[in-house]
Amino acid sequence: MAMAREFYIYNTLSHSKELFKPVHPGRVGLYVCGPTVYGDAHLGHARPGVTYDVLFRLLRKIGYQVRYVRNITDVGHLENDADSGEDKIAKKARLEQLEPMEVVQTYTLRYHEAMRRLNVLPPSIEPRASGHIIEQIALVKKILEAGYAYESNGSIYFDVARYDEKHHYGVLSGRNLEDTREGTRSLDGQDDKRSPLDFALWKKAAPEHIMHWPSPWSEGFPGWHLECSAMSQKYLGDVFDIHGGGMDLMFPHHECELAQNTASRGQGGVHYWMHNNMITIKGQKMGKSLGNFITLSELFTGRNDVLDQAYSPMTVRFFILQAHYRSPLDFSNEALQAAEKGYRRLMQAVRDVKSIPVSPTAAARPEIASLPEKVYEALCDDLNTPTALSVLFDAVRIVNSVKDKLLEINPADRDTLSSLLGEVTSDVLGLCDEASDSASAGLVDGLIGLVVEQRQQAKAQKDWATSDRLRDRLKELGVQLKDTKEGCEWTVE
Ligand code: ZN
Repeated sequence: MAMAREFYIYNTLSHSKELFKPVHPGRVGLYVCGPTVYGDAHLGHARPGVTYDVLFRLLRKIGYQVRYVRNITDVGHLENDADSGEDKIAKKARLEQLEPMEVVQTYTLRYHEAMRRLNVLPPSIEPRASGHIIEQIALVKKILEAGYAYESNGSIYFDVARYDEKHHYGVLSGRNLEDTREGTRSLDGQDDKRSPLDFALWKKAAPEHIMHWPSPWSEGFPGWHLECSAMSQKYLGDVFDIHGGGMDLMFPHHECELAQNTASRGQGGVHYWMHNNMITIKGQKMGKSLGNFITLSELFTGRNDVLDQAYSPMTVRFFILQAHYRSPLDFSNEALQAAEKGYRRLMQAVRDVKSIPVSPTAAARPEIASLPEKVYEALCDDLNTPTALSVLFDAVRIVNSVKDKLLEINPADRDTLSSLLGEVTSDVLGLCDEASDSASAGLVDGLIGLVVEQRQQAKAQKDWATSDRLRDRLKELGVQLKDTKEGCEWTVE
């Protein structure tokens, strides 16, 4: 197969941008930490969703076969992100009097729907933590055998101090054991841990805990960090290419994952660690307690006091792409409105480029011929989407000048502009044309209405053969008719 294009990636582990070298030629293993499904998908989910989707699309576009694994956390994530408190899903189930798996199903479907609207491609594999308890128990056994964990009252904890004697705990997040110790609360005497730095690999379930499984140590449940070590190894192997997630997961989640990998298989197992920055709201962290929490469905409908209006999924996607994934991104109505304008301007040019006039005698323009290379150079430079967009807007300006007859271009240059705007915008950046989607939806509605009208006329003239034929043909196409006193209602399956 053809050699893939060079791609540079910022590696959190080395704190530097590196030339990407895959473990296996032509193939990429990508693991991204997915959501804990105990509530609606919110603005915070949109950024990693879109960022790793662009990475997935780009790697495929430049010639790699990509196995993209994004997990669903449905057990083990406790309320305070550490080893105490209630399981987030079990708590929701208790409050709403549901089975935990009903909570998981509801919010997994809503997350999928939000991602689908943002035009985020589904991953190649989407494993659930609760479906991999056997693998997680096997991993705990390995870490115990290697001497980096201990049992205490039926729970198993990772021995951080012991690990740090041989390896560096904190290598990913750039801290040493002393810094980490300072940031950790001391043990309250009730704890089974030897040190507050230690983290749970397996927790014995309290009698009121709903989700638990048998293990050699107790009836219990796996620690939150364990699932990603177990599932990434299962689907991508002992060593794989890229592990992504939000910056908020770097410590402790990814640090613990790295330690678990090293303790159980002698190596970190991940070549490139990648972290996206967070979305803030007017400079503040988003949080339920701060009253600035926005779900994605609220964003798409405008139903939240923080919002001046509804913002379409593609506006939100464009807004995210305008910033580099490692830079902070601040949400405000003004910023979203500017993104809406930019998105519409880009899409207008995508539509216009197909019909702008060309003049066969116009000279070739090198500034047009060089645009595709510039876009890919930006995208392959650690996913520099803001620069890629600015190059696309250079193309937009050229299209508009041709449209306004200020510039003449030849057919080859028009083809370059057309494939650049069409392919890069939709295939790599994942921006689809909402106006044409809704226009075609409107057209379908109009055509169905027209056929229904014809059938009503046939019925009025007692032409039953025609009326039945139209009804049956519509039914074959998935359109159900229902005759009522007022006329005819129809629904599409
Ligand atoms: Zn994870």
